[in-house]
Amino acid sequence: MNRNLVKCITLISLCASTPAESRELPQALSVPGGIAEIHLGSSHQPAPKVYFNQQRVLVTRNRDQWLALVGIPLETSPGAQHISVNTPEKSYELSFNVSYKHYPEQHLTIKNQRMVNPEPEDELRIAEDLKHINQAIDTWTEQEVVDTAFSTPVEGRISGVFGSRRFFNNQPKNPHSGLDIAAPAGSPIKAPAHARVINTGNYYYNGNSVFLDHGQGLITGYFHMTAIHVRPGQVVKPGDILGTVGATGRVTGPHLHWNAYLNHTKIDAALLIPDDMPRLQMRNRK
Ligand SMILES: [Zn+2]
Repeated sequence: MNRNLVKCITLISLCASTPAESRELPQALSVPGGIAEIHLGSSHQPAPKVYFNQQRVLVTRNRDQWLALVGIPLETSPGAQHISVNTPEKSYELSFNVSYKHYPEQHLTIKNQRMVNPEPEDELRIAEDLKHINQAIDTWTEQEVVDTAFSTPVEGRISGVFGSRRFFNNQPKNPHSGLDIAAPAGSPIKAPAHARVINTGNYYYNGNSVFLDHGQGLITGYFHMTAIHVRPGQVVKPGDILGTVGATGRVTGPHLHWNAYLNHTKIDAALLIPDDMPRLQMRNRK
């Protein structure tokens, strides 16, 4: 082979593996439970303030453009939706289209009846839990740079997908709110990106939980842990250990239930790690 050609091929393969090639943004998927990415114009202007359903929306710089990352609620009907965009000079609306997505059914058997039909005292605790969880999800931190280059928080296989219409012991329940990654109890759960710990606690359904604030309303939650290794206020970098996989709360076995939120809306966490999802899904076939 011609020496120049060899050199050229070597350069191409080097380029393909440089970090600059890695994905820095979530996967855009404008469906219920997905993320709409909407271009807002030149980033030489100040960042506009964007709202969807009265909630502030994350706006990030992508090359020389401002880009809104809009979380779309699972209950949204397909069709046109609008964001409002506010700059110092003007306010206007931009529309975007939401497409249909089919979410499968999932049937699970839970042995502990109180996890399916809670007692009145459990209901009181669940209501109290919700206050803390909602407070975490409500967090808005004004910061220009949001680390959206996520890595997978735990090594395992996908045991449950976001949005599935769930039945516990044949009773219809709320759709599945996160991505389940099954792994042996005690496996380390790592911070997938730069963030700040905003809440840790033990909750009725979610068990031992950690919530991370990534800035501008991007929040992630880690549930069913055995042990929690971080505390509220702590700043974490990618790879820092948040705790370990467990089976606390409402579970059928040890796994990480991973939630993600944008503009106070639960979205599919798989969209944060699209490049790694095929690898994790392959493990199901073994
Ligand atoms: Zn789950």
